[in-house]
Amino acid sequence: MTARSDAQARVTAVGIHRVGDAALGINWADGVTSEIPLREIRLACGCAVCRDELTGAPLLDPESIPGNIGAYRIAPVGNYALTFDWSDSHSTGIFPWEMLRALADRSASEGR
Ligand SMILES: [Zn+2]
Repeated sequence: MTARSDAQARVTAVGIHRVGDAALGINWADGVTSEIPLREIRLACGCAVCRDELTGAPLLDPESIPGNIGAYRIAPVGNYALTFDWSDSHSTGIFPWEMLRALADRSASEGR
């Protein structure tokens, strides 16, 4: 494979599954399987409510997100992202695969 297709495989999901109530599992095309805590995904929400559209500064208070946050629904957006209906009634965020892979790699490097 070329370097370019490797980079594409890193951010291409071939399967998603729930891991209990608190995490999302993603199988990536490069062979890696990730488990990302749902709360970390919720905290990374980049929608206009959670993040300043101009500066990118976070507007979301992490303290406001419960430790046991769940997702009622997880659905694809085209072939580039996932959307979640969160148990805190928030559902406007779009989570591109690139963002989810970055979260997954960060979680893994922190040993969680
Ligand atoms: Zn949001």
